[in-house]
Amino acid sequence: MYGNRERIKKNKPIILDMKKNIPSQIRNNLLQWYWKNDRNLPWRQTKDPYRVWISEVMLQQTRIEAVIPYFMRFIERFPDLKSLAESDLQSVLKLWEGLGYYARARNMLKAAKIICDQYQGRLPETRDELLLLPGVGEYISAAVAGISFHIPVAVIDGNVKRILARLFADPTPINDTSAKRHFESHAEKLLDRENPGDYNQAVMELGQMICKPRNPVCTDCPIQQYCEAFKKKRIPQYPQKISKKSIPLKQMIYAMILKDGKYLLLKRPANGLLGGLWEIPGGELHQKTRLKKQLADIVLSQTGIRIEVKRKLGIFSHAYTHFKLDAIVYLCGCKSGEICLNGPAEHRWILPEEIPHYPCHKLIHKMVPMLHEAAAKWVRAL
Ligand code: SF4
Repeated sequence: MYGNRERIKKNKPIILDMKKNIPSQIRNNLLQWYWKNDRNLPWRQTKDPYRVWISEVMLQQTRIEAVIPYFMRFIERFPDLKSLAESDLQSVLKLWEGLGYYARARNMLKAAKIICDQYQGRLPETRDELLLLPGVGEYISAAVAGISFHIPVAVIDGNVKRILARLFADPTPINDTSAKRHFESHAEKLLDRENPGDYNQAVMELGQMICKPRNPVCTDCPIQQYCEAFKKKRIPQYPQKISKKSIPLKQMIYAMILKDGKYLLLKRPANGLLGGLWEIPGGELHQKTRLKKQLADIVLSQTGIRIEVKRKLGIFSHAYTHFKLDAIVYLCGCKSGEICLNGPAEHRWILPEEIPHYPCHKLIHKMVPMLHEAAAKWVRAL
């Protein structure tokens, strides 16, 4: 006896939901489409809760194509929960480097240790218990619960809200926090309770492949006949959003402090933005004058050493979700003082070729070729 998924895969006629109400037809169409078209992604080869959890954490705010190589490397290095729980933050951050939103990696490691200590090394099987783990919010708990434990909970994220807003031509702004329950009730009505994992993945797949933020491919959409925005020819009007304030720009200044061919690297404190990652000394500029003096003061306060600020090396920019950074980098020499950290968690004097051993954030990665060049010039000048 085949289930509908097997029928689709084996090109056999599927057994349709005979109730013929609109939600059941939408979910039938979605599931049929997904079972025919789902991409062969590495985390879809299994329902193993550990791998599903890792993939869902990585997929938060990140494109599938970007996640695939990270997921493969991560699973190779940490094939099970025990190996992750026994690891350390630096190793996890190194594997996560470049994926962004580093709190995800820190929380994942904390959660792995808790699961080993309190749940005998197995992910808890109820949504309430999943929600107690660091970094596991409503979306990840719903996804893991549905895919691995067959618990019927609808996932909700930006993709899902966009589809629902278009499907029902719903003018509720999708980025209004008070609208979350509203979209949840739409999603719960459509959820397939017999196949919650596949259904949730089908909706996500539709949002990524067909009902994309711009230029949705309505001609290929399995639920086009039910889509109110499509019928009314008003797709560009959905989803609606409350306009947000512009993203603030922070002006940063950094010091490449060279000593004996090595430069100084500082580790950010474990908690907070980019926690546990390494960077060269520096901080936010508060005025646009006397830059060298401000940089020397920042370095003195962070490290206890007095520097000579020599020349500007370059300007770099990077955009995060909630702010943008413009950074000026200066080449500096060490004048006096011993390292006495105030803020950073650790320091190292490193050779340029050692930088790959240290997990750094994206802005620092952008600087690395220039840091290498400056260090090489310093050596040539000896
Ligand atoms: Fe999205 Fe177009 Fe499908 Fe409507 S018909 S759900 S707008 S892809």
